[in-house]
Amino acid sequence: MTKTVNLLESRAVKAFHGAHHAHGRCVGRALNRADALCRQRGARLTAMRRRVLELVWDSHKAVKAYDLLDRLSDGNKPVRPPTVYRALEFLMAHGLVHRVDSLNAFVGCSGADSHHNAQFLICQVCGDVSEMNGAAIGKAVARQAEQAGFTVRRQTVELHGECPRCAVL
Ligand SMILES: [Zn+2]
Ligand SMILES: [Zn+2]
Ligand SMILES: [Zn+2]
Repeated sequence: MTKTVNLLESRAVKAFHGAHHAHGRCVGRALNRADALCRQRGARLTAMRRRVLELVWDSHKAVKAYDLLDRLSDGNKPVRPPTVYRALEFLMAHGLVHRVDSLNAFVGCSGADSHHNAQFLICQVCGDVSEMNGAAIGKAVARQAEQAGFTVRRQTVELHGECPRCAVL
């Protein structure tokens, strides 16, 4: 058990990016992955969907739908809310974006290609959200729920605290 916990911890620590890391690389990787995934699935990554994904990836902080709306409309023809919500729905359905329920906001998926139950580490200081793919955690929660006779449709684990960068300040 101790071993598992250590493994999860080390993965979580690595998941956080430095304040001045080359974020362009994170964005590039995310867009390339989206292109490849959609091509593979025969799904259309339209210009709007791609732009929304790019804006979600603007930083590692979770972004609210109305902020996306503002930024999409900035200097352009105003974009209507359903357009943004539909783009987000598409991106979520393909596992490219996750909704962080407790923040009512969205983050880009940095995890594996397959559908997964992610746990989110939310820094209360800098606002960065990091994804932890602890498969064992998801399974353990599902098993407990099952024992209680509960059918799980969706699982969200969100942890609030300080990221490694903010914890040392
Ligand atoms: Zn980054
Ligand atoms: Zn993910
Ligand atoms: Zn932080």
